[in-house]
Amino acid sequence: MTTTTMPAPTAALPALADDTIRLCQTLLRMDTTNPPGNERICAEYLAAELSAVGYAPQLLEAQPGRTNLVVRHRGTGAKPPLLLTAHLDVVEADPAKWRRPPFSGEEYEGCLWGRGAIDMKNMAAMCTAIMRRLAASRTQLARDVIFAAVADEEAGCDLGSRFLVEQHRGLVEAEYAIGESGGFSLHLGSSTFYPVQVAEKGFCWVRARIVGEPGHGSMPRHDSAVTRLGDALAAIGRASLPVHTTKYIASFLDALRAKQPALIQPLLRIAARPQLLARVARLVPNASIARSFSALLANTASATVVRAGAKTNVIPGVAEFEIDGRTLPGQTDEDLLRELRAVLGPDVELEIIKSAPPTVTEPIGSPLFDTIVRQVESREPGAKVIPYMIPGFTDAKYFTQTGARWYGFSPVKIERGSGIRFADMFHGHDERIPIAGLAWGVDVLDAVVREHCA
Ligand SMILES: [Zn+2]
Repeated sequence: MTTTTMPAPTAALPALADDTIRLCQTLLRMDTTNPPGNERICAEYLAAELSAVGYAPQLLEAQPGRTNLVVRHRGTGAKPPLLLTAHLDVVEADPAKWRRPPFSGEEYEGCLWGRGAIDMKNMAAMCTAIMRRLAASRTQLARDVIFAAVADEEAGCDLGSRFLVEQHRGLVEAEYAIGESGGFSLHLGSSTFYPVQVAEKGFCWVRARIVGEPGHGSMPRHDSAVTRLGDALAAIGRASLPVHTTKYIASFLDALRAKQPALIQPLLRIAARPQLLARVARLVPNASIARSFSALLANTASATVVRAGAKTNVIPGVAEFEIDGRTLPGQTDEDLLRELRAVLGPDVELEIIKSAPPTVTEPIGSPLFDTIVRQVESREPGAKVIPYMIPGFTDAKYFTQTGARWYGFSPVKIERGSGIRFADMFHGHDERIPIAGLAWGVDVLDAVVREHCA
């Protein structure tokens, strides 16, 4: 199978926004909760929509049903390709907690409702609509535009972006990539910002092991592996790892400071005086902002899985727990292990289970970042595009391994006072996207693609 653009049929397409809304609504009605994922229903649907305008999209699976789609609009080859990406899987949704059913795609209160509405079937719909229009209008661009719709992002990317990069690298190699996460309206005080992701933390998952004397449960030991496991869990749960300020946070704060000096004073104080980190919750009154901000200033470690013992009357000789560690740009796995040893002491053995380094893209001097700034700020005078870093990870982790410069930009306009906070929509109840904001998003994304690839 090839991925060449075939001659397009002459039938006119719906307007770009209408095509996007229709695609998004249909995707939202398909349950791709991961696990088990079952991304194939979405991938086959999008493949049909892309084939209808002459593409020959490729469907690629690492496991049955866990389908990835890749399609390419051929340019002249004068410049290297641009990759557009979205993941097709979603996290679970409890219908009892939602005001509209999570797989309804229902139109209600001016929004499309459904799990994945902003994370990130909206992006899959926008990219598909843009690709369809490029083919139907026979647009000649200097770059190939590749669209990859992937499986398995929500469970760590192994069957999606990682599989494509490791097994089908040539299909997704690009100079630039656009994907999750950023491009949404962030209203702070009287200003509106559009954060664009240029960096994300690495992860370093660690197994911690404590060995002690086993014994009979009828004769307690104060130094058993289980007792010391309790001490270790408490120590790690209460620790604040050392602050390392990065230029990503510095440039984010600079951009905020220019617009909102009063609002961010508490954050500036913390960045300047790392010893205040432990008090971030008091300085920044919103607990969720405080948590996410402090995660951007330090490596972090959360104890998650705990294992010890199998019988009530036996004191086990080994106790283990797993740590979800996250590393800042500039920090290595070894740096994190050193910080963990300082908290846990020498008796806890640490072993890395799986890790990937931080992902960083330089926003300064990037024509794509400049294009995003121009296209967003010309549509919304007064708004400001700012580079930012996320504490989690996305498909950027793998797609950047081909050398692509990654920008998290899946644009959505959210009106001030709409009652929708973008951050709360991610994996939250009542996930929905304003229909007008989706139409705005595809218009700006289409303009960015065309300008960058012209
Ligand atoms: Zn996502």
